[in-house]
Amino acid sequence: CGIVGVLGQHEVAPIIVEALKRLEYRGYDSAGIATVNDGQLDRRRAVGKLVNLSDLLVHEPLAGKSGIGHTRWATHGAPTVNNAHPHQAGPVAVVHNGIIENFRVLRAELAEKGIKFQTETDTETIALLAQYYISEGLDPSEAAAKTISRLEGAFALCFLFHGEDDLMIAARQGSPLAIGHGDGEMFVGSDAIALAPMTSRITYLEEGDRAVVTRAGAEIFDAKGKRANRPVKKIKIDA
Ligand code: GLU
Repeated sequence: CGIVGVLGQHEVAPIIVEALKRLEYRGYDSAGIATVNDGQLDRRRAVGKLVNLSDLLVHEPLAGKSGIGHTRWATHGAPTVNNAHPHQAGPVAVVHNGIIENFRVLRAELAEKGIKFQTETDTETIALLAQYYISEGLDPSEAAAKTISRLEGAFALCFLFHGEDDLMIAARQGSPLAIGHGDGEMFVGSDAIALAPMTSRITYLEEGDRAVVTRAGAEIFDAKGKRANRPVKKIKIDA
């Protein structure tokens, strides 16, 4: 339901929890965070209020300056820890708002290749598909692009990858998503309100856009895969 991504200069887990709090107004049943630390992808998830996730992070801290976070409003699969986002498949972690309408078709295709499922969610299919494309030799950015091109339905997505401390792939189709520009830091959020404490410089993705985000900035591609110029807007929200 709510998405946050940060390529930061500081430890990101506390920053992401704070940003997720600003998305609480949307409602949610569980929450989670994934980070990359020295190339290692790891995650923590908890059912219920964000305080449960922060408590878990006290006992099992998550280091790293790059991370993604999510508050989930379950549509496919019960609100359990196992079904909570970020979903991870090997080197890929993903957070997702919305519904993948063709996930059963994609699931059947993956099952035929002998790929196993751990959850009942539509979202896990996205992670498994991207993992499959990486195993076929695509780099993370290409694998994410190919995965996104296979998805039908309404979604906002943010990917993070093992071994990639300076990369997030964000995509928007039917659910809003904003990119935030910092100084040597970049952000992704369901809305600008979530990013307000970090930055007031915002680029709104348009329908069908995909963004390749690094600390140096965001390269945006439109629905046809062509480089797109989207304006950076200075917004005013009380942080
Ligand atoms: N359909 C996904 C799920 O049920 C995402 C729901 C959401 O937008 O939070 O896990």
